[in-house]
This record gives sequence, C-alpha cells and structure tokens, in this order.
Amino acid sequence: MQYVSTRGAAPALNFEDVVLTGLARDGGLYVPEAWPQISGQDLSDWAGLSYADLAVKVMTPFVGDSLDHDAFNEIVHASYRAPDVFHHAAVTPLQQLDSNEWLLELFHGPTLAFKDVALQLLGRLFEAILARRGSHITIVGATSGDTGSAAIEACRDRENIKIFMLHPAGRVSEVQRRQMTTVLSDNVVNIAVEGTFDDCQALVKSMFGDLAFRDRVNLAAVNSINWARVMAQIVYYVQTVIALGGRQDRPIDFSVPTGNFGDVFAGYVAAQMGVPISKLVVATNINDILSRALNQGDYSCGQVQPTMSPSMDIQVSSNFERLLFDLYGRDGAEVNSLMQRFVQSRSLELGPDQLAQAHKQFTAARVDEAQTSGAIADVLAQSGVLIDPHTAVGIAAGRKQRNDEHVPLVTLATAHPAKFPDAVERATGQRPGLPPHMADLFDREERYETLPNDLGVVRNYVEGLAG
Ligand SMILES: *Cc1c(COP(=O)(O)O)cnc(C)c1O
Repeated sequence: MQYVSTRGAAPALNFEDVVLTGLARDGGLYVPEAWPQISGQDLSDWAGLSYADLAVKVMTPFVGDSLDHDAFNEIVHASYRAPDVFHHAAVTPLQQLDSNEWLLELFHGPTLAFKDVALQLLGRLFEAILARRGSHITIVGATSGDTGSAAIEACRDRENIKIFMLHPAGRVSEVQRRQMTTVLSDNVVNIAVEGTFDDCQALVKSMFGDLAFRDRVNLAAVNSINWARVMAQIVYYVQTVIALGGRQDRPIDFSVPTGNFGDVFAGYVAAQMGVPISKLVVATNINDILSRALNQGDYSCGQVQPTMSPSMDIQVSSNFERLLFDLYGRDGAEVNSLMQRFVQSRSLELGPDQLAQAHKQFTAARVDEAQTSGAIADVLAQSGVLIDPHTAVGIAAGRKQRNDEHVPLVTLATAHPAKFPDAVERATGQRPGLPPHMADLFDREERYETLPNDLGVVRNYVEGLAG
C-alpha cells in the first residue's frame, strides 16, 4: 500500500514512513492511493472476533508489507488488551438507548476519551518502527487539557521516545492537569507555561519552525493528521456494523461529535471500503464551520467560542482536507490551490457538484449549549444513562437529522461523563464519579515544571532533557 499527498506534490510513501512523517512536505495530508474493500462475506466471517482480532483484519491492508505481520499483530493485541489498557472486555462496547438507538462507548481507555483508541496504537507503532531503525524522537505538544493526557499515556515508558507536553499554568481543570502530571515516567515531561493555550501553541509552532533545533532533537508530533490515527478509528465502525447485523441491505446511521474531522472521516473511509453505512451525521457545537461547510458549502473561519464541549472548539478542521481531496476527484493541484486561497482569505466555498457528492454520505447539524444540556438531561430521563457534553452534541444532532426510525442510529460517545462533571451536574443534578481505576487520581503525586512564556527558556529546557 502506497500513500499519496492531498496536495499532489510530495513523494508517495509506504505505511511506516507515513506514520513517522505526519504532515507531507508539500503541506498536504497523506491518504491511501486506493481504498481496500470489505465484502459482505468478510462481515459475516468476522462476526464474533475479539476487538483486537478484528482490528488486525481491518488494518492489515493499510499496513501492507511495510511492517512484519506477526509484529503488527502483537502491537495491535498489546494496544487493545483488556482489562488493563482498556477497562472493558469489548474495548468499545455498544450501549442501547432505545429500540433502535445506540451509544458506541469509546471512553474505556486510560484517559477516558476516544483519542486513546488511536493513540494507544500509535505509541506502540512509533516504538516498534524506531527500534527497527535504531533512531529516537522527541515529541513536543501543547494541550488545553484533553489531548495531552491521551498522548502522554500513549508514549509513557516507550523506548526511544521522549514526550514534552505544554499546558497553560492554572488554566486547565484539576482532573485534566492531574491526568498528565501524575504520570511520573522518566520519558514524560510536563511543562506548565505561564501563559494561555495560544501561547503554548505558539511556542510549539516556533520550535517546529526552528529547523536546526528540529533536526538536533528529531522533533515529531502525534496530532490528529497522522494517518495511523484515522486508520485505528475505522475499526469500531466495522465492529458496530457487525454487532448490529452486518447486512449490506440494512445500513446504519452514525452521529459523530466532530472537531478536527478525524473521527467522522474514519467513518467515511469505512463506507468507502464497502461497510454498510447509510448517513454520517457531522455533529458540531456552536463552533460550526463544518456544519456550515456541509450544509451551505461555506467553509470559513470565525472566532472560537468556548463551550462545554471544549474538544470540539476549533476554527479549522485539519482532516477536512482529506475529504476535499476525494470531492475534487483526487486532484492534488486543485486541492493545493483551494488551500492556498483558504490560507489567504480564511474561507473557501464548495461547488454544487462537490456539495452534492458530500451529501451522499454526510449530513450535518449545529447544536447550541442549551440543546447540549437538554440532551444530557433527556438521555438520563429516558434511558438512565449519564453522557458527557461532547456525546450530547452527537445525540442532539443525530436525533435532529434522523428521518427513518427503522435505520439504526449509533452515536459515538467520545468521553466519559466524569471528565466533565460540572456540565453534567448542571444539566442533571447528578455528579458523575471517576471509574475505579482512576478513583485515587487526587491522591497521586504530581510532577511538572513551571516555565515563563519565553521561547528561549522553553526550547533550552526541552533540548537539555531530550535524549
Ligand atoms: C477530540 C475529541 C472530539 C473531536 O474529534 P475529531 O476527530 O477531532 O473530530 C470529540 N470529542 C472528544 C471528547 C474529543 O476529545
């Protein structure tokens, strides 16, 4: 399997190089040159497989022969081991809400959010590839709270990887800070920056822009444009379709709380592979660039507005470029000129043909804060289940867009309610408790360094500790 850049001007790479490279040299994102196919026979043959065994079947065509099959098999089984890595034997279990409505629980990993599903695999892939090449990397990231902990859990104690995570001092919730700072592994360094999240991001960007520094420490990123993250997320769509019957003549709708368009793009890939998926509902909060793009063709940036679903408070959806590539007939030059225009004007418009093409697979809805709280309260009243605000955006959008009750509707539950206890308590009067494996989070020892918002100081600190 070879991968091509969405902007058409970077060399084609194999899987291993794509995992290590992240962003293509022409500024594009890597996608497989063709979508592997899953047949109806495959779906019925795969019924009853464990999550890890199914994951190997689904992902092997994307890996090709760039990794040894037995080694890949071992990595996948280690990533989805239960109950110590994922705290549920099914890894991503389905929970029934109504006669034909379901929740796909993606929050049973180490940090209680869906990013664990992909990052647990990515950390182990990095480790295996680096060992084979005899090299090492330094990962530097910035977090406003949620993704930092998933990246740290994915990289902790891994050989040849050192991870530095910057967070704005005093500006992340205590649960979020402790999920990062109580990881005391030697290869994990938490830095509290005396500044805002934007300051942290600017520092990281400057370090990546300093090419000499970048080469000295082998700087790498684990952000959501990495193809391996999308690939890992295809698996639970396939698992769900199989669990609900797996029949080509009975396709399923999914509603996906969306920020960077990674998770819902994985659903699109599953559909391209032949998995019977009817509609994918792109669920956004009031930061609605994606629902405007898919409803009116208007992909233009506004100001980020803070909401109770902060992991979806975005301005630009980086993975959307992967969909644009398909909508524009896989013409890299065309995507390149679109993206150049977007950088200049902060806006681009989808043509009528592209919009019609997108509507074959996607619908989209925007959910405001009152509707989000309403959905949390409704699901508790109707089904006795507490959901987090991100999941609630998915529920509200899915129900809004639903036009056939005979089609099963599955909403992706992207975070455990205990990650957002204040919003859940405001909506329901109930305060969700941390699951048993995290119950002692507030008693654990913390370790982090506080540094000024100063590029020279932070960069020297990173270089001093990088392997
Ligand atoms: C990251 C995140 C999302 C958005 O996922 P994308 O792949 O960026 O669309 C939704 N919910 C939660 C809880 C997240 O952490």
